[in-house]
Amino acid sequence: MPFPRLYLKPGRDRSVRQRHPWLFSGGVARCETDQPGAVVAIHAHTGEPLAWGHLEPGATLRCRLFDFGPEPPACDAAYWQTRFAAAARWRSICIDCTRTNAYRLINAEGDALPGLVVDVYGPLAVVQLRTAGMQVLAPLLVDWLLGQGFAHLYRKDDTDGSSCWLAGGLEEAVCREDDFTLFVRAESGQKTGYYLDQRENRRSLAPWLRGRRVLNAFSYTGGFALHALRAGAAEVVSVDASAALGPLVERQLAANFAGPQPHRFEVADCFDYLRNCPAGAFDAIILDPPAFTKHISTVERAARGYKDLNLRALKLLPAGGLLATFSCSQHVGSVLFRQILFAAAADAGRQVRLVGAFGHGPDHPVDIFHPEGEYLKGWLLQVME
Ligand code: SAH
Repeated sequence: MPFPRLYLKPGRDRSVRQRHPWLFSGGVARCETDQPGAVVAIHAHTGEPLAWGHLEPGATLRCRLFDFGPEPPACDAAYWQTRFAAAARWRSICIDCTRTNAYRLINAEGDALPGLVVDVYGPLAVVQLRTAGMQVLAPLLVDWLLGQGFAHLYRKDDTDGSSCWLAGGLEEAVCREDDFTLFVRAESGQKTGYYLDQRENRRSLAPWLRGRRVLNAFSYTGGFALHALRAGAAEVVSVDASAALGPLVERQLAANFAGPQPHRFEVADCFDYLRNCPAGAFDAIILDPPAFTKHISTVERAARGYKDLNLRALKLLPAGGLLATFSCSQHVGSVLFRQILFAAAADAGRQVRLVGAFGHGPDHPVDIFHPEGEYLKGWLLQVME
């Protein structure tokens, strides 16, 4: 059976020809179906077939494209299973499974599966089905994940309240990152339970922190703190606004280190904490705030937030001090983020240099035709002596 067709308006086929996986409603002339999640064939207004995608009727982001070229894809169970298996194969190459069993197994567009995210934490897989098309594929995905040996499957939805256990049930998963033991709670935790996207950055930053007094601002469950302590940081202060994290941070430290560690967790707003902190108290600062904007219209306000935060941190650091600073706002691109840091350094009146760059780990691949997928960026800055 041929797929129902979606016709583009004249002159609106460029992004599809360039394999951009997002098709917006403004480019659509007409569509033969209005069934949520239907696979539709994308045709230029001339009738030429260009791509295939999942339909999201009524949404501005009308269709997410997963296949391109003139030949219609099968879109049967074997087709999707092949995509899932390709994603798993890449992780078996890029993740050292002897030390780490917490990673992103499927990264939406980066795995040619737009709308689908699967994060795994040992025996637990947390699934995000962000489109109607992926919801249609849920039974197939569940079968495949069970076949891969995951005993517990949780569907996490941050929008429509349909979070639920799809198989098993586990209040807290015990898993490993670079040989650290982590406790991850899918139901009550942020994102799918943990910030897997920062793994490589936690690892690559650690050696720089040896012997330093470290402020781990926006700490969440203390991922950066674990790495910093193992690398020999002199002192680590983890600060987060969520008081509920305190006991979890302490349990995780106890599970990973034999004796007491030079670490403390403080509940505070990081803006206030930095404002009240005496200059010179830390010689390395990590700033890993949540996304300050989820929408293009609030980028300017977000930019002010990033500037303020980084300005305060740069003022506090002594000569030779290090600042590891991140932005996970999709709409704050790497060029803008660097301009913000430039402005913060100028206002702080410090001589600052770039000594390193941070990004996603290889388990968060980014489709080269989909720059929007590259949301996490970071820099390692040094205040010069
Ligand atoms: N660095 C962490 C992830 C940080 S996520 C890791 O590697 O796992 C961002 C964290 O910032 C969340 O835990 C959230 O509770 C916290 N947060 C958000 N706004 C805050 C604020 N104004 N002050 C302090 N913490 C804040």
